[in-house]
Amino acid sequence: VLSTMQDVPLLISRILTHGSTIHGTSQVTTWTGEDEPHRRSFAEIGARAAQLAHALREDLGVTGDERVATLAWNNAEHVEAYFAIPSMGAVLHTLNLRLPPEQLAWIVNHAADRVIIVNGSLLPLLAPLLPHLKPVEHVVVTGPGDRSLLDGTTVRVHEYEDLIAGKPTSYDWPELDERQAAAMCYTSGTTGDPKGVVYSHRSIYLHSMQVNMAQSMGLTDEDTSLVVVPQFHVNAWGLPHATFMTGVNMLMPDRFLQPAPLAVMIESEKPTHAAAVPTIWQGLLAELTANPRDVSSLGQVTIGGSACPPSLMEAFDKLGMRVCHAWGMTETSPLGTIARPPAGVTDAEEEFAYRLTQGRFPAGVEARLSGPGGERLPWDGESAGELEVRGPWIAGAYYNGPDAEPLRPADKFSEDGWLKTGDVGTISADGFLTLTDRAKDVIKSGGEWISSVELENALMSHPDVTEAAVVAVPDDKWGERPLATVVLKEGSTATFETLRAFLADEGHIAKWQLPERWTVIEAVPKTSVGKFDKKVLRRQYAEGELD
Ligand code: ADP
Repeated sequence: VLSTMQDVPLLISRILTHGSTIHGTSQVTTWTGEDEPHRRSFAEIGARAAQLAHALREDLGVTGDERVATLAWNNAEHVEAYFAIPSMGAVLHTLNLRLPPEQLAWIVNHAADRVIIVNGSLLPLLAPLLPHLKPVEHVVVTGPGDRSLLDGTTVRVHEYEDLIAGKPTSYDWPELDERQAAAMCYTSGTTGDPKGVVYSHRSIYLHSMQVNMAQSMGLTDEDTSLVVVPQFHVNAWGLPHATFMTGVNMLMPDRFLQPAPLAVMIESEKPTHAAAVPTIWQGLLAELTANPRDVSSLGQVTIGGSACPPSLMEAFDKLGMRVCHAWGMTETSPLGTIARPPAGVTDAEEEFAYRLTQGRFPAGVEARLSGPGGERLPWDGESAGELEVRGPWIAGAYYNGPDAEPLRPADKFSEDGWLKTGDVGTISADGFLTLTDRAKDVIKSGGEWISSVELENALMSHPDVTEAAVVAVPDDKWGERPLATVVLKEGSTATFETLRAFLADEGHIAKWQLPERWTVIEAVPKTSVGKFDKKVLRRQYAEGELD
């Protein structure tokens, strides 16, 4: 039997139209570093998005599902691009401005971006790259910045404001297929070339509704969200789209992402919500400890991207900023889990333990655990396996050029189409995910898994250890064994024997998991986003040749 419902495609243009009319008075506030931030209403953003679409089509000839790139901070113009480009049927390609330049060039060439919208402040990054960006014909510059950096370039340079000036403030948005590409984002490519994830109108629409659910971020038009997570990092975790559905005001930090201006922003604009990775909040915490400010407006802080340290959650709770921990990845749009304790939990310790997990799966994200031999593992809170997920906003393949079949590498997608996340953990009977490791970091010893993260946390709780990273090294008998690399406090007299004993006694690490290989290092190498770079450590120590 066919349903009798209307078949209305779930399109970004519908989110834009809704936000700019029903919530027309809601605001995007952009920090400028000057006394007064810049304010623009959702209605104005809607009008300017229409003008931008006209300019892209009529002046720059953007057609069909062409990719239009942005190289930009979080600000009002970037929100306009977010809506204009997909609504007209083109594909928004947000470029990660923190990638090494050669990777950035690789990505622009791979996506065949013909137009780049760039913030003036990022011209020092873009200008020297331009000769290597073969498909780029047009550069559109917004905001302050030295235009002379583009002198002598062969691409056509446009001023954003001049380009959109005088264009009609409405646009007859096309009725697209909701499965059509709307936006794309490349993973950071820690192994091999970066991989492109292409979101559809439908996946973004459904993901946005999920972000808005009370058990997710649950914000309303009374809220203001400080969107610190970059718009080039998995669509700022879906916030620009979600807020246009509900009228949540956005506070955009532009390039002012250092702890001191963030603290000022919070005190003066009083956002009620904020979202960012732990390293940003660690920095803010240090700033607030040195220069206390009133940050009490921030009732909810969404933290994800890597595990939220318990000490950070505690410290934020004390300041009245309640942390909500979430897990996700570029391939999952990104919201995959969010940690809100279930009803009926009143014990403070139990509640805290729930909040430290990566969280529960929302309707729309199905999950399963796969063991070392590929077997399905139970949701018993103990069996650790690789997390696999599926759902309408989860990637099923990677981009491989406009006319090529998408890529489905066997290490990323199961035969039956689930995404293999590369994250290892347990799921409790009530659906809470606890990650113990990334699959490539877990130590496979004699058919059992040893969590590198668990060993690291136990080591870092020793008073003489400032940092510790544990990696697998090959072992003739066991396949792999853990190698502990530790950074010791100056003047420490701790020995490997005492650290080993500490792990067993205080860390409650099982005897068979205790590392027998140790080395002292000066610092743990870090990736561009501050995660431990175990690839480098593995390269150094994979041979097991230690002093
Ligand atoms: P990258 O792989 O370059 O870090 P992503 O931003 O897509 O790019 O990162 C996704 C990964 O980040 C996840 O697979 C997971 O390993 C890690 N991650 C994200 N959120 C959390 C979290 N709350 N706790 C632990 N790890 C997390």
